Amino acid sequence: MARLTTAGRLTTLTAVAILTAAAPSLAQDRDFSKVEIKTEKVTDSIYALFGAGGNIGVSVGSDGVFIIDDQYAPLSDKILAAVRELSDKPIRFVINTHWHGDHTGGNENIGREGAAIVAHENVRKRLLSPQTIPAFNRTFEAAPAGALPQVTYVDGVTLHLNGEHARIAHLPNAHTDGDSFIHFTEANVVHTGDLFFNGFYPFIDAWSGGSIDGVIAAVDVILGIANDKTKIIPGHGPLATRTDLVAYRDMLQRVNDLVTQGIADGKSAEELVKSGAFTDIETTWADGFLNTEKFISIVYEGKRS
Ligand SMILES: [Zn+2]
Repeated sequence: MARLTTAGRLTTLTAVAILTAAAPSLAQDRDFSKVEIKTEKVTDSIYALFGAGGNIGVSVGSDGVFIIDDQYAPLSDKILAAVRELSDKPIRFVINTHWHGDHTGGNENIGREGAAIVAHENVRKRLLSPQTIPAFNRTFEAAPAGALPQVTYVDGVTLHLNGEHARIAHLPNAHTDGDSFIHFTEANVVHTGDLFFNGFYPFIDAWSGGSIDGVIAAVDVILGIANDKTKIIPGHGPLATRTDLVAYRDMLQRVNDLVTQGIADGKSAEELVKSGAFTDIETTWADGFLNTEKFISIVYEGKRS
């Protein structure tokens, strides 16, 4: 498809960086041996783990451990070691915020430790069969049986553990068609999954039912429950505040408006980027993952599909 001419101009290094930074990726594409798992304390009982792939949330306490997302399979031993630094109790649940392999790759390994895998029903559906993402020219194999969610929901479910209520809520057709965010109502902490990339352009997976309009609507829901004291664990990027999420929403809205207008005016994605309309947005948001050309082409294709 036309967008692949854009991808073709990327260097191999950039393409690999894109695939491993946030898009679902096959583990054999990269060497995980140098990846370190860094732990950041969010509250006395909630932590964030940063490694390669989606940020992991960890809840620890008297009832045991549950985690949100599990990155890539080759990192499972390091992730388990990092969790063991926080608690010696069993991992009871893994919540998948969506199906992408940089969030679900460790499912089979963590499940083998005895954890039940919990996700929206569309996450299970997508993991059951091969998935293709033309934006990255990639097809992903169906997940092994042991990696599939055993507990699924339609709208949401709540875990009452560790003196906390972790409300898991599905939001439709945003980053994918199976996104959930997790709201720790007592601690005032939110794990957004890939509804929020803190500080850089997101991947929006229209090929898995996502859309930029859906991401904006999802961000609005999260902004509706967040206040100035809310601690936000984004899908990618550093820990965030509500102010960071507002800035992200503003960027998405501006991009959405410009691309919508450009399509109405009969402009191609390339013409839109060349027009310079995104120059000021780019200085802040093109840092580190997708460049403007690639991001706009993804949004543009998503709006036309
Ligand atoms: Zn994702």
